[in-house]
Amino acid sequence: MIIVFKKSATEEEISHVVDRIKSLGLAVHLSKGEERTIIGAIGDESLLASTPLEALPGVEKVMPILKPYKVVSRDFKAEPTVIDVMGTKIGAKEVRVIAGPCSVETMDLLKDCATKVKEGGASFLRGGAFKPRTSPYSFQGLGEEGLKFLAEAKKETGLPIVSELMDPRDIELLCEYVDIIQIGARNMQNFRLLTEVGRVKKPVLLKRGLAATIKEFLMSAEYIASQGNTDIILCERGIRTFETATRNTLDLSAVPVLKQETHLPVFIDPSHATGKWSLVTPLSMAAVAVGADGLMIEVHSDPENALCDGEQSLKPAKFAELMKMIGGIAATVGRTV
Ligand code: PEP
Ligand code: MN
Repeated sequence: MIIVFKKSATEEEISHVVDRIKSLGLAVHLSKGEERTIIGAIGDESLLASTPLEALPGVEKVMPILKPYKVVSRDFKAEPTVIDVMGTKIGAKEVRVIAGPCSVETMDLLKDCATKVKEGGASFLRGGAFKPRTSPYSFQGLGEEGLKFLAEAKKETGLPIVSELMDPRDIELLCEYVDIIQIGARNMQNFRLLTEVGRVKKPVLLKRGLAATIKEFLMSAEYIASQGNTDIILCERGIRTFETATRNTLDLSAVPVLKQETHLPVFIDPSHATGKWSLVTPLSMAAVAVGADGLMIEVHSDPENALCDGEQSLKPAKFAELMKMIGGIAATVGRTV
C-alpha cells in the first residue's frame, strides 16, 4: 500500500501514521520527496483492512501497489535510484563500467589488470575470490587470499571492488574487503543469501538467474530490499535459450522492461552473455544504446592462460577500444562514460 501525504502534512501526522502501520505488523518505507512524503506499507495488506488510513490527519490518498514487487517497483518510487560508492555514482548520467578478471589469480596479474582497466576508463574493479564453478574439480577461487589481493589492487588504483558472495557464512569477511557485493546468477534465488545481503549496508549487484523471468528477477531484488537494503544494481547476463552460437542469449529487452518496472539501476554483462570476447564490444554498444546504466566486462592480461573464462575475456587494449566505442553511443543517448 502507498500512502501519499498532503503537502501540508506535519511531522507528527506522518509519524502517527507510521506508528499505526508498524503496530499492525507491517514494515514502513519512508520516502521524503521535495514536494511531499510518501510511505509504503509492506507486508500482509489484509491487516490494514480495518484501519481507514485515508481518514487519518495529513493523509491525501491511499493506493494499493498492484505489482508483486513493492519496494523495488516504479509505482513505489518514480525517480531512479542513484547509488554512491566512494563518491562514484551509479544510476546517474554517467555509464559505469566494472572490469577485471573472472577470478583473482595472482597479485601480479591482478595489479596489471587493475592498472590497465583504470587507464581504459573503468570505474570499478571486479574479480572473483569465491567462484561458482560448474565442476567441483575446476579452480574454485583463492578465497580470503583473493580478497586481500583485491584490497591491495584497490590501494594501488583507487578503484572500488566488486566480488561475489556465495555463502552467507562469508558475508562479514567479504564486507571487510569489497565495496559492492555480487550475487551470481546461480544464487539469484538463494533466498537466505538474499535476506542476509539485505541486512548489510553495502550495495549489491544482483545477476539475473540463468532461467529466471524478469518477474522472478525483481522478486529476488525485493527479498533484498524488504530487509532494508535498497542499494541494488540489477545485472542482465544472458539467459538459457535453444541457441548454441553464444554461451547464453543476451536479453537486451530486459533493460527497457526493467527501466519501466523498477527504479533500480540496470547493468549488462556481455561477457557471460556471449562467452566470446569478439562479441563483447558490439553488445556493449547495444546495451548502452538501450539505456543500460553500466556494464560488467571481463578483462584479462593473458586470456590464453586464464584459470577461468579466458575465451570471453578482453585483453586490456581491446577493453580500451570498447570504452571509446561506448563513449560515442553514450553521447547519442544523452549520457557520458
Ligand atoms: C561472474 O560474474 O563472475 C559470474 C560467475 O557470472 P554469473 O553469475 O552471471 O554466471
Ligand atoms: Mn566469469
